[in-house]
Amino acid sequence: MSPDDLKDLVRTIPDFPKAGIQFRDITTLLGHGDGFAASVEWLAQAVEGAEAIAGMEARGFIFGAAVAARLRLPFLPIRKPGKLPCAVIGVDYELEYGLDRLEMDPLAVAEGQKVAIVDDLLATGGTALAATELLRKAGARVEDAAFVIDLPDLGGSGKLTRQEVAVHTLMGFE
Ligand code: 5GP
Repeated sequence: MSPDDLKDLVRTIPDFPKAGIQFRDITTLLGHGDGFAASVEWLAQAVEGAEAIAGMEARGFIFGAAVAARLRLPFLPIRKPGKLPCAVIGVDYELEYGLDRLEMDPLAVAEGQKVAIVDDLLATGGTALAATELLRKAGARVEDAAFVIDLPDLGGSGKLTRQEVAVHTLMGFE
C-alpha cells in the first residue's frame, strides 16, 4: 500500500480532545489488516540498524511492539508515572498546560545500546524529546525516531534533529 493509501485510513475527528483540535485517529488504520501491516513494515525499515525499540505509552506501544517483534528486537516500554513495579528513572517535561513525566526501567537498556523510538504521531516533539532524554540517561544511543504521522506545523521534527535524532515519518497532515 502507498503512503497516500495509508493516509486515507487515518480518521480525522474535529474538536477532540478539545475545541479547535483536529485529532488524527489511528484506530481506523489499526482496524485495516493490510494497512496496519504496511505501516509496521515501513517503520521497521525506517529504524534499520536499531538494537532495540522503545515505544511511549499508549499508542507507541501498539506500533513499537509490533516493529520490535517484526525485527526480533527487544521492546522497551516508556511509561506514564507510577505504572512500573520496579525501580525507575524518570524525566519531567512540559505540555501546553502543565507538566508530564515519563518513566522506564533503567536496567532495560545496555550501555551504548542503539535504541530507536517509535510512536504513532509527532506533534510538538515534547514526548519524543523526553523519551530521548530518558533513554540517554539509561545509557542508550538514540539516533532514530520513526512516526506514522507528522504534524509538521508544530515543529517536532526540528527539535529532535537538533538533538541529533534522525526523524522518519510515513505521512504528514498540514
Ligand atoms: P507531542 O509531544 O509531539 O506534542 O505529541 C505527541 C504525542 O501526543 C504522541 O504520543 C501522540 O500519541 C499524542 N498525540 C497528540 N496529538 C495527537 C493526534 O492528533 N492523534 C494521535 N493519534 N495522537 C496524538
